[in-house]
Amino acid sequence: MKKKVLLTPGPTPVPERALTRMAMPALHHRHSEFKKVLGEVREGLKYIFQTKGEVIIFASSGTGAMEAAVTNTLCKGDSVLVVQGGKFGERWGQICKAYGVVADILEVEWGKAVKVAEVAAKLKEKPYKALLVQATETSTAVRHPVKELAELVKGTDTLYIVDGVTGVGVFPLPFDELGIDVLVTGSQKALMLPPGLAFAALSEKAWKACDKSDLPKYYFNFKKELKNLGNNETAYTPAVSLLVGLHEVIKMYKEETLEKVFAENAKMAEACRAALVALGLKLFAPESPSEACTAAWTPANVDGAEVVKRIRDVYGYAIAGGQDQVKGKIIRIAHMGYISRYDLVACIAALEQTLNDLGFKVEPGKGVGAATAVLGK
Ligand SMILES: *Cc1c(COP(=O)(O)O)cnc(C)c1O
Repeated sequence: MKKKVLLTPGPTPVPERALTRMAMPALHHRHSEFKKVLGEVREGLKYIFQTKGEVIIFASSGTGAMEAAVTNTLCKGDSVLVVQGGKFGERWGQICKAYGVVADILEVEWGKAVKVAEVAAKLKEKPYKALLVQATETSTAVRHPVKELAELVKGTDTLYIVDGVTGVGVFPLPFDELGIDVLVTGSQKALMLPPGLAFAALSEKAWKACDKSDLPKYYFNFKKELKNLGNNETAYTPAVSLLVGLHEVIKMYKEETLEKVFAENAKMAEACRAALVALGLKLFAPESPSEACTAAWTPANVDGAEVVKRIRDVYGYAIAGGQDQVKGKIIRIAHMGYISRYDLVACIAALEQTLNDLGFKVEPGKGVGAATAVLGK
């Protein structure tokens, strides 16, 4: 009966304002009422992506836009460089492989950001058609140096393809200014909606690459969607209700302003780190933490999976655990989107109780105090 709160790095909580809009009867996607909404959503997405260009919309999870970024801009046999520091980096490599794109993998230790100099050295080895990276590698809660990497490919023929699923709307990723060529995101992270929408912004260079791309594609076709969006339509039936929800979310972003959202996320991330450290946990990515979510090692004698299960089942706070090599060893707490300062503080309180329950003794209020001290600064 008690309220459950999501502090997972996707999906994230949906604001009441968006829920109410999405509960209205579905509009017909070729009627003027919906086309007006889509027209405003198109403008709003430009604000969120900080671009003058069109942002393409698909009815899919975020991976759909990742796949589209590959299949629309690359050719069979192209060589690309993939930064792989976790599960989502692996996904870039797997998508490339599925389509016959040759991916050289730059392995990065989990919990670390890629070193700009290493990417620079790799890019000198051969003429790569694209560099693919995550803004936040969500599986490790690491923020990669997206801006610095952009400098490496600026003015070259290499396309810069960034998975911004836990970056867009979380911290500054000004698309036009940075010189990213394809930037993708999904609806269920900082855009505070249920899963089901994927987005991609493209540069002039990327649109030119689309003209040459020979990889198979049908639904996920950037050029087809660009043409349709000009008429406030999508090529196929869009996820109408989610787009109506997005219409509301965009209003919220504009009322708040991107700058304030970014500052608040950074503050909450700092508070979360301070709390975990105060509880005696070791941060998983202390050197390059993300503003989207924070990861910490669970204590040696405590099973991370048990922490995640107990804090959810007993205290009502859903957080995430680790995957693969860190399965059962880390916890991840999200603080992007519609998660308030005191949702986070309450989650820390629940974590304190959970750790005590599982035999790792922490002083109640220690993490909470550290978090609120940062928030009160
Ligand atoms: C959540 C996420 C995705 C998208 O995953 P889907 O399940 O397809 O929505 C992609 N990349 C990153 C970095 C993510 O955090």
